[in-house]
Amino acid sequence: MGKNTVFADDIEEIIISEEKLKTRIRELGEEITAAYNEDDDIVMLCILRGAVLFMADLAREIDLPVVFDFMDVSSYGASTESSGVVRIIKDMEENIEDRHLLIVEDIIDTGRTLKHVVDMLHTRSPKSIKIVTLLDKPERRVQKELEADFNGFEIPDKFVVGYGLDFAEKYRNLSFIGVLKEKMYS
Ligand code: 5GP
Repeated sequence: MGKNTVFADDIEEIIISEEKLKTRIRELGEEITAAYNEDDDIVMLCILRGAVLFMADLAREIDLPVVFDFMDVSSYGASTESSGVVRIIKDMEENIEDRHLLIVEDIIDTGRTLKHVVDMLHTRSPKSIKIVTLLDKPERRVQKELEADFNGFEIPDKFVVGYGLDFAEKYRNLSFIGVLKEKMYS
């Protein structure tokens, strides 16, 4: 577990190592770079707070001019189940009309959070909306039509933490993605 030893007893299993994250994020950067033109006006929208580390690393692998923006939404309290209620805590700042929007998300689970965000942002008339997610739990999808354009890893239906993802605001600074021991939230 290396530098993250303080959390060692809380983690059942490391499912994506720091090394694997780095390699895949480099590939995602290449895929995204290839999907746009050099003169496209691209706004990268980080969905707070879980996608912060992913955004920071991914942005450096994209060989295009991009603008950063941030939106804070919440659908989970201190539990592991989606409430279905999405709150916009902080809206984005940029005007996205006629610009390319790249939404950067940590994980798509039921898809409810992102569906809500995408529907709302569509009303602001962007030129395009693309979604990049680090993790995807396809088994859990309720919003079946919601697909990421770029997807880091498909993972099984287990509650994961680390590399930005939390449980009750903890574990975000783990350098890997791990499965949280059930005793930590049951
Ligand atoms: P959805 O609305 O797709 O069900 O949930 C999306 C949000 O729920 C994610 O942005 C993330 O904040 C949270 N979430 C879903 N699955 C997990 C998980 O396994 N671990 C953590 N830490 N958060 C999750």
